[in-house]
Amino acid sequence: MKKLLILLLCSALFHSGPVFGWGREGHETIAKIAERNLTKRAKKRIEKYLGGHSIVYYAKWMDEYRKTPEYAFTDGWHTAPVDARLHYSDELLNPKRGNAIYGLESAIRILENYREQSDSTVAVNLKYVIHLVGDMHCPAHIKYATHDMKYDVLFEDKYRKAHKFYVHSVWDNEIITVSRIWSVSEWADELDRLPKSDKQAIAAGTPRDWLHDAAVCCEVQFEWAKPDARLGQDFLNKALPLVESQIRKAGYRLARLLNGLFD
Ligand SMILES: [Zn+2]
Repeated sequence: MKKLLILLLCSALFHSGPVFGWGREGHETIAKIAERNLTKRAKKRIEKYLGGHSIVYYAKWMDEYRKTPEYAFTDGWHTAPVDARLHYSDELLNPKRGNAIYGLESAIRILENYREQSDSTVAVNLKYVIHLVGDMHCPAHIKYATHDMKYDVLFEDKYRKAHKFYVHSVWDNEIITVSRIWSVSEWADELDRLPKSDKQAIAAGTPRDWLHDAAVCCEVQFEWAKPDARLGQDFLNKALPLVESQIRKAGYRLARLLNGLFD
């Protein structure tokens, strides 16, 4: 009985975990794909500011620091709103909270003159860019004006046992953890196989264009995961390719952004 109680408690804690954007695997795979597509010069300059670490090392940094007093002002930056036409505009910005586009555009503006900034300013704004390009490509982090996103679903684990989940964490973590046991490098190696011309086409445009593309591609999430739906293998067979496509796009776009700033 005691054992059962502990088990129940653990699963309750697990299922109501914080909502933090792509889990570690998602963010780090995006950064790994980006790293593979950085120019030598950009990679070297960036790593100098990151204390010798790679961009992969800091991919999840913003989630780890968003609740600290020093970085509490970034807590609202992890999602990106779109209007009924699935576009971002300045009217959607809540100035008290900010959002991913706001955070990303401000960081880019600062990094455009990185040589005139202090090393620590460059480092922290790099961490913002690395993370926010990832978050704005996560289906659950695009805030649709036209869809309610706050509901639960029943998600099957690898033993086909259904657990109640906030739909948000299914997209953030569960699809990846149920389907992929690869390391970040192995997954990046599998996803980063497009010809150069395709990579360039994906990475063209601005962060606002990328968000629109992400919002269009991910709107199908509301068809696939309706409130209280039971989501099993059929769902995974559609959802995982969407997740992988978003991760790949985010990786190529992050690489182009960083090459543009640091090469
Ligand atoms: Zn985040």
